[in-house]
Parts: sequence; structure tokens; C-alpha cells
Amino acid sequence: MTARRLRIGVMGGTFDPIHHGHLVAASEAAVALELDEVVFVPTGNPGNKKVISSSEHRYLMTVIATAANPRFTVSRVDIDRPGVTYTIDTLTELSKLRPDSDLFFISGADAIAQILAWKEVDRIWPLAHFVAVTRPGHQLQLPQVKEARISQLEVPALAISSTDVRNRAAVGKPIWYLVPDGVVQYIAKHKLYRGHGDSVHN
Ligand code: ATP
Ligand code: MG
Repeated sequence: MTARRLRIGVMGGTFDPIHHGHLVAASEAAVALELDEVVFVPTGNPGNKKVISSSEHRYLMTVIATAANPRFTVSRVDIDRPGVTYTIDTLTELSKLRPDSDLFFISGADAIAQILAWKEVDRIWPLAHFVAVTRPGHQLQLPQVKEARISQLEVPALAISSTDVRNRAAVGKPIWYLVPDGVVQYIAKHKLYRGHGDSVHN
């Protein structure tokens, strides 16, 4: 009898900082898709987006936020790879590391739209199933691509974004309950986001 293939969720993001929106989305996807594990993958250099905190800060906050959940893990593949992070490279590397698994790339509608804009988009579809989570303010337009395995998942409307958390931290507003307690404490300890109050959503 052949062993069942593991079902692994992949949650990529800048996680600057990780917040409860990310964690709820991952947890809902894990239940809905019967995932054995969700791997959080902080991006290295996202290329199109300004990152405020270093890779190590973003990685450590992700570790702190996910530590208590036995199904959540964190991967360094993107932050340890030099150059700009592309989802195709993330998925190629993870599928080599976990050859007996089916990958489910979990992302918001904004991130799916970015993947579609990628120039060799056809190469990405065989690597994973795609789970598009809806979040407030983002209308989901599922692409009509024959070879794409894309499903939609509604998560409880959490109007939390990293941009808002950074803006609040910059002006000393509370960020308790938007991010896990350990992440609140980590941000205070390292004085992250001070003087970055004008960042806009990206
Ligand atoms: P920023 O405001 O800096 O863009 P963000 O909150 O969008 O940050 P990212 O690290 O860019 O966070 O997002 C990583 C992934 O999580 C993306 O696929 C994004 O669509 C998704 N995501 C972000 N916020 C939420 C949320 N509140 N609920 C569900 N998914 C979310
Ligand atoms: Mg974003």
C-alpha cells in the first residue's frame, strides 16, 4: 500500500509584521483543505515592495507567531536565497525539499493577481494548487486558466494589514490583539517601525 501524500500549505508573505489575518487564513485553509502542515515562508527581497524590517526580524516574528501551533512551521528558503523572491522559485525549492507532498499555495487575491502578471506564469501551475483567500477590500476575480488549480476560500473578515500595524506602531497606538502577544513584545524590544508612520498599503 502506498503512503498517503502529505498535503502542505505554503503561506508566503513579507510578514512585516505577521498578524492575526495571516494566522487565521492559514488555520482556516488547514481545516478546509485537510492540510497536514502549513509552512510560512517569509520573502527575501520582494522586489516590487519596500520592506521596512530586516529578513531576520521578519523571520523571527514569524517563528514567534507560529510556535504554539503544531501544524505551523517556518521556512528560510526565500530569505536565504539571494536576489529577488519569485513564487516560482519558492515552490520549486519546496517541492524538491518535500517530494512526497502536494503543495497548496495560500494567498490573498492581491498576491494571486501578482502571480498572474508573472511573465512565465504557465510554469507555475503544475507546482501547486492555489488557494485564494478573500479579505476585506479585495474583490476576487478568479482567472480563467485551464491548467490552473485555483480554489477560493472565504476567511472571517479580518481587516488587519501589516501596513496598518506599522502605522500604529509608528505613532505609539496599541497593536495588541492585531498581532500575537509575542510579536507585540518583539516589536517593542527592537523598536521596529519607529519613524515609518507614513507607509501606504502595498
Ligand atoms: P502589507 O500591508 O505590508 O502589504 P499584508 O498585511 O498584506 O502586508 P503580506 O505579508 O503582504 O501582508 O501578505 C502575505 C499574504 O497574506 C498575502 O497573500 C496576503 O494577500 C495575505 N493576507 C494579508 N492580510 C490578510 C488578511 N487580513 N486576511 C487574509 N489574508 C491576508
Ligand atoms: Mg500585502
